Amino acid sequence: MKPDGPTARKLGRAVSLERRNAEGDGGDDQKKTGKYIWHTIGDGKVRSEHADRDGETFDWDDPPEGGHPGEAPNCRCWAEDIKDNARSLKIKSPARKAR
Ligand SMILES: [Zn+2]
Repeated sequence: MKPDGPTARKLGRAVSLERRNAEGDGGDDQKKTGKYIWHTIGDGKVRSEHADRDGETFDWDDPPEGGHPGEAPNCRCWAEDIKDNARSLKIKSPARKAR
């Protein structure tokens, strides 16, 4: 048994996560811009003010009352990026390069 093996891996992971967070705060890549479409998951538990927003367009820079989809407690709504829809697929490729 090698006690160092798994431990070292965990530590390395934690460090890289911290670095990612630090970079995320400073970098422009992580910041959402443009507009999105508000989607609810459409079951009976969706709060009514969110149900009203279903299908409406909002701006990432101008959050509606209560915040963006998923930001309110227990909120399971989600946002569909309009502008970044095609771009977000491309973003995945450079991210794999970082490994
Ligand atoms: Zn919601």
